[in-house]
Amino acid sequence: MIRFDEVSKRYPGGNEALRGLAVHIAQGEMAFITGASGAGKSTFLRMIPLLERPSQGSVVIDGVNLARLPKRRVPYLRRRIGIIFQDHRLLHDRSVFDNVALPLVIAGRAHQDIRRRVRAALDKVGLLHKERAEPVTLSGGEQQRVGIARAVVTRPPVLLADEPTGNLDPTLSEEIMRLFEQFNQVGVTTVIASHDLPLIERLGHRRIHLVEGRAA
Ligand code: ADP
Ligand code: ADP
Repeated sequence: MIRFDEVSKRYPGGNEALRGLAVHIAQGEMAFITGASGAGKSTFLRMIPLLERPSQGSVVIDGVNLARLPKRRVPYLRRRIGIIFQDHRLLHDRSVFDNVALPLVIAGRAHQDIRRRVRAALDKVGLLHKERAEPVTLSGGEQQRVGIARAVVTRPPVLLADEPTGNLDPTLSEEIMRLFEQFNQVGVTTVIASHDLPLIERLGHRRIHLVEGRAA
């Protein structure tokens, strides 16, 4: 489902983030991308929704080489991918409900449909009782769970997370990773960049370890 063929990425200015990287992640798989800071983990994730393009090689998603994806198809690609950031990027001028609803509002979904899906997503992350809350009143772990609800509310077949537990203590980190496992268990292909090695080893999923932009 996600295939990198000899992908290299050189940023303007010369930083070589990926060097001839070949990786295949199958549909329904759960994989961790590990490696030191600067190893290329974020760059790897950013190529999947076409936030970055390879300098060489190809990224193929669902059999489609992204280099040949027409511009008008990019929004469709991105709708199929839920993204979770370390800093969760919630909007602080609106409620938890409205944050989670945002992707559905943008997609022009009907009011009733939005209400049902947002509540279902909040229920899955255990935060239905917080739908009226302002994000600032939530703990770090709760804010991250709102970020996850927002990412899954459109039911994307792929979830990408970039250091989703970077700001959380070990107990909360494990809770968040278990939540990802639950989505993975219903078939969502899940790729998580993290350098929390003890936790990753305990969870026991596939690990793709990057060293200076190469799979080690
Ligand atoms: P990681 O997520 O593993 O920390 P990154 O993918 O963020 O690694 O970075 C890999 C390399 O690419 C680093 O040397 C970083 O400085 C560089 N890099 C990342 N983003 C940019 C950018 N937008 N412009 C220039 N260099 C970048
Ligand atoms: P509904 O079918 O009413 O949307 P579900 O209980 O099947 O309710 O799903 C509730 C929510 O859980 C969805 O809105 C979505 O956020 C998440 N979810 C469930 N299944 C998946 C899936 N396969 N992929 C992504 N997200 C899912």
